[in-house]
Amino acid sequence: MKVILFIFILSVFSETSVQKDMYEGIRNDMVDKQLVSRGIRDNATLMAMRKVPRHLFVPEEIAEYAYEDTPLEIGSGQTISQPYIVAYMTECAAPAKNKKALEVGTGSGYQAAVLAEIVDTVYSVEIIHELAVSSAARLKRLGYKNVVVREGDGYAGWPRHAPFDIIMVTAAAGAIPQPLIDQMAEGGRLIIPVGKPHEVQQLIMLKKEKGEITEKKLTLVRFVPLTRDKKN
Ligand code: SAH
Repeated sequence: MKVILFIFILSVFSETSVQKDMYEGIRNDMVDKQLVSRGIRDNATLMAMRKVPRHLFVPEEIAEYAYEDTPLEIGSGQTISQPYIVAYMTECAAPAKNKKALEVGTGSGYQAAVLAEIVDTVYSVEIIHELAVSSAARLKRLGYKNVVVREGDGYAGWPRHAPFDIIMVTAAAGAIPQPLIDQMAEGGRLIIPVGKPHEVQQLIMLKKEKGEITEKKLTLVRFVPLTRDKKN
């Protein structure tokens, strides 16, 4: 009996530690070679990127590619952004404790998890049923108690929880949805790729200071399109 218990404990231990070790080094390499070397400086962002197990946010068959410098397919025709873009958008959002974030386009839940490592609460909206269900389950399994996922059209934001310090849209829109601008908190930031679907888009940041909105062009990106719910 004692022997069996010992073997059981040993196997549980080795499984968790093997999993951790298997990707920890690769993950830290990803942070050093793809993020730090390209100018990501925000400590909280770098810590979150070192911590969140990206390989558990992609389909199992491609887990080994999770830390490569590339976007990856996550099913339902959608993609998880390249690590650098996730880190860049996170840094631009100026995340901090006590902040409240809204994400439009939960996808795999990876960007939500990165934000959740830093901010108080992340509200995330996903329009595709299967992805809303799977990302919510994944985030729960990984222990992210401060992310709330809802299935729906994020064009309208999430008025019940507004205003938000951070609004991050991870799908490309033709123009910035007015409801999202309306849901920015004082001192808040909205980050969104704007442009035509399936082309290069302009990542834009809006800031709201003393009630005034200013716009800044960031980098060029390529995101899947922000789709609209036909009921709206
Ligand atoms: N941030 C995600 C990747 C986003 S891919 C991650 O970290 O994995 C873009 C996602 O936006 C897709 O899952 C797509 O279904 C979703 N999406 C597109 N239009 C949307 C809308 N109007 N409201 C909410 N989600 C939307």
